[in-house]
Amino acid sequence: TRVLLNNYVPSGSAKISDFQIVQAPAPTKEQLKENEVILRPLYLSVDPYQRNRLSGAKESYIPMYQKGQPISNSLVATKGQPISNSLVATVIASTSGEFQEGDLVIDGGGKWETEYVARAGAIKKAPVYPGINPRDYVGVLGMPSFTAYVGMTVVAEPKAGETILVSSASGAVGQMVVQLAKARGLRVVGVAGSDDKIEYLKSIGADAAFNYKTCGSLEDAIKRAAPEGIDIYFDCVGGELLDAALANINEFARIVVCGAITQYNLSSGEEGYGVKNTLNILIKSAKMQGFTIGGYFGTKIQGEFIEHVSKLYDEGKIKYRMSETVGLENGAQAILDLFEGKNVGKSVIKA
Ligand code: NDP
Repeated sequence: TRVLLNNYVPSGSAKISDFQIVQAPAPTKEQLKENEVILRPLYLSVDPYQRNRLSGAKESYIPMYQKGQPISNSLVATKGQPISNSLVATVIASTSGEFQEGDLVIDGGGKWETEYVARAGAIKKAPVYPGINPRDYVGVLGMPSFTAYVGMTVVAEPKAGETILVSSASGAVGQMVVQLAKARGLRVVGVAGSDDKIEYLKSIGADAAFNYKTCGSLEDAIKRAAPEGIDIYFDCVGGELLDAALANINEFARIVVCGAITQYNLSSGEEGYGVKNTLNILIKSAKMQGFTIGGYFGTKIQGEFIEHVSKLYDEGKIKYRMSETVGLENGAQAILDLFEGKNVGKSVIKA
């Protein structure tokens, strides 16, 4: 099974017909050149940035998928390193001395195919950590979880006793932000799009949480949940909620611009939501800073993240919920589902 891009979708919601599921013969060992492997993905990451790669935009921070070619998890980070932990696979055949049949590996350039050929130099063995199962490489140790860690440790400048507001709080990034913030002694307010998600947020330690779809005025809902104001806003959505958050910031607040999913279905020329409360950044001497995770792969902080988070996870001190879509043939739908909020926790495909 291969999941291919059928059409570019410059704006609006992508549809299942924008993808094509085809059957193709699996590669054979005889076809391998030197230092190549055949991989069978076990778990693949499904992420909001993939929407951008469907757009066909001429200018973007990430390369577009190609029509008629498989959807992939490959992303080249700024340092020329592939972004890892997006796909975990088993080696089926190998002409490399480094990899044997049966090895569990991580491929930063993985394709959405049942079996495919990869260069040995582009993959790495999945390191063994206590309590970590194959799907955890794309889950609790995956790219979005690392994003939460970098956002909290490098950008947010958290101090115990402060209040943090987190949007898309039950998602892949958000659930980790909530727990890292609690561990640092912050008061955490989570925002999500269903009552089920709100329950989950409370179960992982959020002090307050509300459903942005049913709360009425966003500005008032934040005020009720954080009467003392917001010191950090960890923004995954942009748009109206960002505006409402800005209306509630305290002096010296930090706004961490992690994502803006409310704007991802717009084409590059299209007018997005016009944020009105930017003057508050000035009045409150606040700081607003974006970041992309690409530049942090292969750096010291990634090692710190893995050590810190794998230990907490093994000890049961953090939870990491996942939404599993079974079968590569259903993978395209999993991308669309992110934009309907159907995932609770990290969206993954079990191939
Ligand atoms: P999530 O697991 O949070 O999944 C996406 C969620 O977004 C949905 O479940 C839904 O939750 C919410 N959502 C979808 N459409 C809307 C909408 N129109 N308005 C408000 N919420 C919406 O995804 P991730 O945790 O993987 O990513 C979260 C954000 O972080 C994204 O914006 C992503 O692009 C960004 N990101 C940034 C990175 C970086 O390097 N800066 C790296 C990784 C991710 P709900 O039901 O709550 O609405």
